[in-house]
Amino acid sequence: MYCYEKVIRQKGRDKRKLDLDAVLKQIEYDFNKLGPPVYVHGGDPLLADIDVLEKILAKGYELGERTGIQVYPHNLTDEHIKLFEKYSTHVGCSIDGPYPLNKARNVPGKDPKQVWEDCKRNLLKMRDKGVSTGIICILSKYNTLPEPRKKLKDWLLWLESIGISGGRLNPAVNFADDGNYALTPDEMADAWVDLLNFTVFEIEKSGWKPFRDVFDSLLGNKQGTCIFDKCRYYHARTEPVVLSDGKTAGCFKVGAMDGHIYPRYPDYQDWNDPSKRYGMIRYDILPQVEYKDGGCKGCKFWRNCTGGCAGAAIDRDWRNRAYYCKAYYALLEEGERLLKAIMPNVVLATDGRAEFDGDKAEDMITNPFRIMDKRNYEYPAASGSPRGEKRNQQKVRVRKVSSEEQTAGHNDGVEHLDGNTRHLDSSDPAPGSRGHTDGIEHLDGNTRHSDSDGGCA
Ligand code: SF4
Ligand code: SF4
Repeated sequence: MYCYEKVIRQKGRDKRKLDLDAVLKQIEYDFNKLGPPVYVHGGDPLLADIDVLEKILAKGYELGERTGIQVYPHNLTDEHIKLFEKYSTHVGCSIDGPYPLNKARNVPGKDPKQVWEDCKRNLLKMRDKGVSTGIICILSKYNTLPEPRKKLKDWLLWLESIGISGGRLNPAVNFADDGNYALTPDEMADAWVDLLNFTVFEIEKSGWKPFRDVFDSLLGNKQGTCIFDKCRYYHARTEPVVLSDGKTAGCFKVGAMDGHIYPRYPDYQDWNDPSKRYGMIRYDILPQVEYKDGGCKGCKFWRNCTGGCAGAAIDRDWRNRAYYCKAYYALLEEGERLLKAIMPNVVLATDGRAEFDGDKAEDMITNPFRIMDKRNYEYPAASGSPRGEKRNQQKVRVRKVSSEEQTAGHNDGVEHLDGNTRHLDSSDPAPGSRGHTDGIEHLDGNTRHSDSDGGCA
């Protein structure tokens, strides 16, 4: 119902035919620039001919020894699972919860109750086979208002019981003007704050995003998913789309706002060339525009949020801040409250004491724990004044993402909407390394999640 490609389809602007050779050629080109994994998105890629799917996964595996796919697993077959095992595929599952929470993700002609039963069976089958599996759940009125949210929480606990303790909880956006399923910014703020607390306190080693992003961002560790970073919306590294005829596009969310598919012109394929940075103008302007005019002027979370997702901006105009600004703000404020409640002396990226060598949260060079560090104080303290001899005041050089890593598939060095998302599915342990939640065991091994990574449905 809410797929952000719907507007493009409604306007009949994507009637291209499949040119598999051209697709494989462009995949190889992008792989050489961006690195693994090759990630198959749709629509629903499970609707593709299985031979076509195998050729794309085989190419991805040949290039990067692992692959990813984002699916609605109600129609998954044993043949699909065999492919995923063969090509080391991380399977991101787009599921909005059990029936009736899943009503916004309808399947024409199929009972939503049956859709959920099929999803559940296939999730369990994949877990049983050890297939790396993650979840992107889209929050809407059907699953997130206070009453259905109780069932949503039970479902998150059930997912934990089958080894899935993270993924993405992304807001639905009314792109197509044909439904009343999207939450208001106030409803979204209430839900995200509640779910942040629920996942942090009720789920062991929770990897649910965007909540995990919030803590890393406030501590100046990393920017997080692309929605919290300066996304170059017309050729977003996070979403380097290859279309079915082999042509390219940037993030579909931007195109979805006005029903166009914008190509990644060959000239704009070099993400690191400053002369191609026209797409960054949003981030020069937003901090100068008043809040009442759609800007972010004076927002204390600017470094953490940078205006939010360009593809889900107010009035569907990427020049504005994100429609769900209020929810981003509430989330960051709650993260700040929790960190300060436990460690009043922690220095956060929003703190006047923090120093930076750039304009984003991840550019923080102050050690957030400096007052709690024995290398700095003889008797450090989490709250109150440290005592004893004052030693060196440590600054932490936040590791800059190398250009090589920047081409590893995440948005401007930041992992993607389902990117640095701790993918339930992933297990890359190093901070900032290809986007996984640090040190958390990922059910699905070292798979870099991209999918999840995209924040996409
Ligand atoms: S929280 Fe809102 S005002 Fe602040 S940076 Fe984000 S979008 Fe802009
Ligand atoms: S989803 Fe990510 S890449 Fe796409 S417009 Fe939003 S922030 Fe940019």
